[in-house]
Amino acid sequence: MTSPSAATPQQSVGSVAGVDTDALRNAVSAAFGTTMSQLKDLVSIPGIAWPSFDPAHLDRSAEAVAALVRGAGLGDVRILRCDKEDGTPGGPAVVARREAADGKPTILLYAHHDVQPPGDPALWESEPFTAVERDGRLYGRGAADDKAGIMAHIAAYGAVTQVLGEEFGLGVTLFFEGEEEAGSPTFRTFLETHRELLRADVIVVADSSNWRVGVPALTTSLRGLIDGTIDVQVLEHAVHSGMYGGPVLDAPTLLSRLIATLHDAEGSVAIEGLVGRDEATVDLTEAEFRADASVLDGVKLAGSGSIASRMWTKPALSIIGFDAPAVDVASNTLLPRARAKFSLRLAPGQVPADAMEAVRRHVETHAPFGAKVLFTPGESGNAYLTDRSSAAAAFAMWALGESWGVPAVEMGIGGSIPFISDLTDLYPEAQILVTGVEDPDSRAHSANESLHIEDFRNAVVAEALLLARLNSEGLG
Ligand SMILES: [Zn+2]
Repeated sequence: MTSPSAATPQQSVGSVAGVDTDALRNAVSAAFGTTMSQLKDLVSIPGIAWPSFDPAHLDRSAEAVAALVRGAGLGDVRILRCDKEDGTPGGPAVVARREAADGKPTILLYAHHDVQPPGDPALWESEPFTAVERDGRLYGRGAADDKAGIMAHIAAYGAVTQVLGEEFGLGVTLFFEGEEEAGSPTFRTFLETHRELLRADVIVVADSSNWRVGVPALTTSLRGLIDGTIDVQVLEHAVHSGMYGGPVLDAPTLLSRLIATLHDAEGSVAIEGLVGRDEATVDLTEAEFRADASVLDGVKLAGSGSIASRMWTKPALSIIGFDAPAVDVASNTLLPRARAKFSLRLAPGQVPADAMEAVRRHVETHAPFGAKVLFTPGESGNAYLTDRSSAAAAFAMWALGESWGVPAVEMGIGGSIPFISDLTDLYPEAQILVTGVEDPDSRAHSANESLHIEDFRNAVVAEALLLARLNSEGLG
């Protein structure tokens, strides 16, 4: 295998690594008017997978997507669903597959066709379910998240099959989920049920963001998550604070002292045994972070290293709940017991079970004044790190840079995409690429969601280039 070239700072003319970049770019552009009008049609369907919304719209959304897939030349299109745990049906997924020619890899292209509810209509400058172009952006619910992801896959597939014809031998599976915004309740069951149908060597998840308008990104790391509760008990029962206060501290005070040991003086997580790295290749300025996170003037930032690494590749611990009497009903007693819930974001490379044990060890060995500490583990989810040495990741970085004419960056997400760990569990050999059509102004999930139209065109071109490069070079 020839080694993949790095992202190029300028769009090259003609052909690179056996890929006719000009022909693909032209094919995407020639069809782009159609692509945009198909995207607008999809935006007009309010397919929301939450139980309180009419499922008929979601079915209509699946039918519309299936028709587009058929139009792109994939004949065997199915609308499939699994039941939820309570026996009610999950959201309709659209799946289509073409088999790989001998020796060619198979790529699965994922996006979701369900959308978030519109929220307060008064906050929208135009109707949420009528796609409208303004200032180079397309506004509407789902215009970015994630109907543009669906259209990027369909349009890229259309361009590459048109340009390469018989030479295009990749196996391609389109997998368009219909319940992502409702938390993907049947995703795991769906994968287990259709494991062979969805099997692939490379999986492209088009549901993330680029770094900013004009700068493409591959999302290469996602943090994991654990949570749990810490219960501190100090007395058998509440007692009068005037009679007994002094020789013994109350439970909220002791719990607070315990919580205070979870971070060191600079605000880094102080639990022994957690992993973290400072390796981000892009960063935010402190001013950008303060503005985005609405940090009040005078509040100092916590932790050390680049701001991006503090958000993406280091652990972050928050107290997200605290049980103690409400201030309005507080009485003068020493409280016997207090409880807090913590949430700990995990750096890629951290095994959640190890982190849970590390927190347990920490709170049990730091019990202040010998208070009784009860630790109860909660939920956990895996972190994710792209194998950046893989051919697929290198080709994706090349394709993004080539399409935009600007080097692609690797970015992380401080949160998680829970279904990524289901994909890695069921397809441990697959190389997963997290791409996206959003940018920091897309406001996915909020009012006035929008898509940057030129970046969307670049995203389609990049995916067509990726498909063509995988077709010509395989995975080595
Ligand atoms: Zn999404």
